[in-house]
Amino acid sequence: MPIARAEIERLVSSYPTPAVVGAVGSHSAIDIADGAATEGLANVVLAQRGREATYARYFRTLRGPDGARRRGCVDEVWEYAKFADLADGASQERLRGRGVLLVPNRAFSSYVPLVTVEEEFRVPVVGSRSMLRIEERTERDNYYALLESAGIPTPRAIPGPDAIDRLVIVKLPHAARRLERGFFTAASPEEFRAKRDALIARGTITSDDLAHARIEEYVLGPVFNFNFFFSPLVPRAEGLELLGVDERRESNLDGLVRLPAEQQLALPTADRIPDYLVVGHGTLTVRESILEEIFRLGERFVDASRTRYPPGILGAFCLQTCLDRNGSPIVFDVAARIGGGTNIHLGLGHPYGNALYRGPMSSGRRIALEIRRALADGRLKEIVS
Ligand code: AMP
Repeated sequence: MPIARAEIERLVSSYPTPAVVGAVGSHSAIDIADGAATEGLANVVLAQRGREATYARYFRTLRGPDGARRRGCVDEVWEYAKFADLADGASQERLRGRGVLLVPNRAFSSYVPLVTVEEEFRVPVVGSRSMLRIEERTERDNYYALLESAGIPTPRAIPGPDAIDRLVIVKLPHAARRLERGFFTAASPEEFRAKRDALIARGTITSDDLAHARIEEYVLGPVFNFNFFFSPLVPRAEGLELLGVDERRESNLDGLVRLPAEQQLALPTADRIPDYLVVGHGTLTVRESILEEIFRLGERFVDASRTRYPPGILGAFCLQTCLDRNGSPIVFDVAARIGGGTNIHLGLGHPYGNALYRGPMSSGRRIALEIRRALADGRLKEIVS
């Protein structure tokens, strides 16, 4: 049984103060910690041993004799043998005992089993706990279903390999690195079969995963990840904010596109199939006349999420979008939590967030600001689940 929201509401009504902002130590934890530090909230990063140095050493808060922050933004690091251990009974008690409000990122929803998050993790999550599962493409109630109900354009689904009549992208997990992608493209059933065989032979994908793969139209156009924020603390008409836009750098895909065509063709066959391993992010803005449509999509997403997953989206979310040849946005993925590219506006903010807040506003800072406002007004239960 999923944990009832009323239980989390009861929990936060007697929560210890001051509240501590928590994040799992990967993905966007620096942005979350930096935002908390800027808003004057204490923070803790939940790290896996062996992956803790970024937080425990390089971004660790150092204070002067007067207690003022001299350097860094990560106040505390709690180490676990494995990330999943943070959901153990004793760990949950420690988190509650310190008043930790956990900001869910992809590291949290990837490394802690979703069923544990939904049914056992009795720690307030700043956002929409029940929406984390929609990111799993193999679920029936996934983000495609939500986008469709919202009337948001998505890439056309292709029913099977034999129906491939245009350039498609085949979406399935990587065979070995289960949290990464084993995506490939194909423009015909023959190309699908040839690449399938090559990728299975080199251990990139498995035929089991392929049986559940999503095949969809490949949108030829640039990728824009729209980092939104929705606040339930203000009137609905003021709730949606666009904070920033990022794009990804994907390992050898980005290497490939930086080569002239002749050199690409001279590569060994195995190197010509790109990997979609995200290794970094860049920042973008979007042509101003397109913004209106982006806001419309964001509003529709908020409304549909409130209907399908009450109370709906709370706080940060990201619509991952390709702009097609006409400049029309087509949403190919959704993060119902802070997106993976928000470190681009860490510290400095982003043109859009800054324009709204008249000063540096990152996603991490906006989340901390929301927590601070909710605490000040006694409305914490409205932003957690
Ligand atoms: P995802 O795992 O859905 O976030 O996708 C990873 C990457 O695959 C994206 O950053 C895009 O570069 C690419 N991609 C995914 N879906 C599509 C699509 N339908 N058309 C074009 N590119 C796509």
